[in-house]
Amino acid sequence: MNEDAKSDTIQPGRLIIFSGPSGVGKTTVLAAIFERCKRPLMMSVSATTRPQREGETAGVSYHYLSDQEFKQRIDSDAFLEFTEVFGRGHWYGTLKETVKAGLSQGKWVILEIDVEGAQKVLKHHPDAITIFVHPGSAQELERRLRGRGTESETELQRRLEVAQRELDMANLYEHIVTNQSVEQTATDICQILESVE
Ligand code: 5GP
Repeated sequence: MNEDAKSDTIQPGRLIIFSGPSGVGKTTVLAAIFERCKRPLMMSVSATTRPQREGETAGVSYHYLSDQEFKQRIDSDAFLEFTEVFGRGHWYGTLKETVKAGLSQGKWVILEIDVEGAQKVLKHHPDAITIFVHPGSAQELERRLRGRGTESETELQRRLEVAQRELDMANLYEHIVTNQSVEQTATDICQILESVE
């Protein structure tokens, strides 16, 4: 095989499950990872029935679907996994097609999903790289969520409850990284990704 032919060969992609409680800073950390990591990373854009937040872009942050559209995708088996994340009627799901397309192009596809979704994906992809971003403590998480100020008090309490359950399950992940500074966390995660064969 000549050099040109070799460089055309697509290396198989990898699946990365990236979790952590709401408010821990996953989005900021992910942006920093994309800036510095040498792997061909790609975000899998999930579908959700939750309303679009200010600052979010349809098709980039999420595919925003009505309940009926979401149900149609469940019925047509379009999801690799789906779940009702905060127990109040908002659904989130990973689209099979997005993951398949990324992996076939040799991308390292990042799924930013909750712990329940992660367990479902691991059944089909036991070789996925699993990373959990930890706030350090539940108190620290509450401080950050309050600082963000995007949720009502009721919603905040619900997220803290879910967060506690997620923190209790962090040990399911191969890599647990405490987010004390965005720069350090992104560097640590990048090192993890670059050391994987
Ligand atoms: P948010 O509403 O703050 O964007 O996301 C809330 C939670 O939903 C986050 O913990 C995020 O990881 C999770 N999530 C986002 N997309 C998916 C998905 O496709 N599947 C699952 N299981 N969880 C998701």
